[in-house]
Amino acid sequence: MWKNRYWQAELWTLLFILFVVGLIGSLFNKTAVFVAVIIFGYLVWNLIQLSRLFHWIFVSKAIYPPVAPGVWGEIFNQLYIRQRKHRKDLKKLNAIISEFRDSTRALKEGAMIISNLGEIRWFNKASAKLLGLKPSVDIGQRLFNLLRHPDFIEYEAARDYGKPLNIPSPVDTNIMLSLSITPYNEDQRLVIIRDVTEKYHLERVRQDFVANVSHELRTPLTVITGYLEMLDPEMNPNLKSVAKPLNMMHQQALNMGHLVDDLLLLSKLDSKVDSNGHKAIDINLLLDSICAEARAFSGEKNQQILFHSHTNTMLKASEKQLRSAFSNLVFNAVRYTPANGKIDIYWQEDEHNYIVKVKDNGQGIESQHIPRLTERFYRVDSGRNRSQGGTGLGLAIVKHVLEYHNATLQIESSVGKGSCFCCIFPKNKDLA
Ligand code: ADP
Repeated sequence: MWKNRYWQAELWTLLFILFVVGLIGSLFNKTAVFVAVIIFGYLVWNLIQLSRLFHWIFVSKAIYPPVAPGVWGEIFNQLYIRQRKHRKDLKKLNAIISEFRDSTRALKEGAMIISNLGEIRWFNKASAKLLGLKPSVDIGQRLFNLLRHPDFIEYEAARDYGKPLNIPSPVDTNIMLSLSITPYNEDQRLVIIRDVTEKYHLERVRQDFVANVSHELRTPLTVITGYLEMLDPEMNPNLKSVAKPLNMMHQQALNMGHLVDDLLLLSKLDSKVDSNGHKAIDINLLLDSICAEARAFSGEKNQQILFHSHTNTMLKASEKQLRSAFSNLVFNAVRYTPANGKIDIYWQEDEHNYIVKVKDNGQGIESQHIPRLTERFYRVDSGRNRSQGGTGLGLAIVKHVLEYHNATLQIESSVGKGSCFCCIFPKNKDLA
């Protein structure tokens, strides 16, 4: 500070005046009085400048500062420069904010900022329309008090924002909204709200169509299969000449029956069945009985089908769905493993997961097919696989069932060596 030229000038001037006045005072033999008068005068002068500064900052709204010599002049000047810069920054910031406001106002999607506790901090016009909010009343309110749909409360409690949530709008239940939440710092979350009514209805129409067609096909198929069973060439010798076509018709009718059953199961899984019906399932018993069925299905292939149980944990799940998923994996292993092959089924757990593993030493799958295996009707070799009796929906059902139980499917395979299908159920308090 003392190196500053204004300070140095101020100091030297003061010392010079004190020296001169002290000298004059000494002529009258009153040095102390003269010096005291000068110091007092200097104090008064400083107080005057201080009061001008106070007046400029707090009382007058003048842009330009008062004019003063020396250090005070420099102080006024620096304050003025800073104030001007601050005004400029403020202007810039206001321009950015109003640009941001204009762009979010033009957004069709609702955007909202909420705190960690769910208090609404800001929302745009589209959110107000989609959720029926009023800025004057709802800013500061907790979003969970305004959106009371049970799915939203559950979604919020789980705090797993990996997937968006679909719920009806509180303004009009015919409007379907998709909410996605992104935490972006310790205390803030961005909520994006989209109107997905059209997509939702199209999806519903598709699901209903598949479910209705499958349902309508069931009755005629049951009749056809029933009559074909009656027309058994073994029981009616006069049908011997048409035995082959009759057997083929019977086989194809049975395949169609399985296809219809699988389609019905998939559309049931699509329509998100209620998880309240879940009960504790003994996975050891379930896999044991599936293995027994698989041995019967394997028949003359003489495969070695072994079940290895490493845990007794019961899973809270839908028994029907798990049976269907695990059966599909085990029956696929039987289908795609040649005679005398080996199939191992494991039930085990590690630190984080419960795992059902189905391992075979069959034909294996080329790596480029693996990501697509769980698509509906995707087959590695469609002609050959259809002849093995599969519907092409097995792994799609497995994926859906596992998703429904918050589990995942992992597939490892190498051609000629075999495949391993792992169902991984992350450990959490609702599962075991
Ligand atoms: P599919 O009814 O045709 O078996 P899936 O959806 O169950 O239909 O299986 C899709 C495809 O994945 C099958 O067509 C088959 O090519 C392949 N696949 C499934 N499981 C195995 C396995 N254990 N070994 C080799 N390939 C398999």
